[in-house]
Amino acid sequence: MKRERSDQGNKAKQDKCPNCGSKKRVFERLSEQAVELGAAPEGFTAPYRLGQRVVGTPEAQAQQPMGAKVPVVNVVEDICYDCHTVYAPLVMTGTAEKAPAEAPLKKLHLPGQ
Ligand SMILES: [Zn+2]
Repeated sequence: MKRERSDQGNKAKQDKCPNCGSKKRVFERLSEQAVELGAAPEGFTAPYRLGQRVVGTPEAQAQQPMGAKVPVVNVVEDICYDCHTVYAPLVMTGTAEKAPAEAPLKKLHLPGQ
């Protein structure tokens, strides 16, 4: 497994199926086909599953001040084309900063309404 350090955190890539070593993946192949058929723009990729999580408890995070950090993870899963093993070709970890929630927009009342 290859690890890259970036400003956003760590990226762990798994290029081959851990079970059979194949580099072909079902959803990666289908994404390429969608582009070839004009059903998606160039560079489009659809994972089998995409998991995004903030790691921590809601109670502790509620007590953190604005600007405090929390660990986050994104997991991209696909299926091996040859043996159907589900694995994660890409796992990204990093931190996110606590920011104030956006206030809902108030409806504008215009004269005459
Ligand atoms: Zn496989």
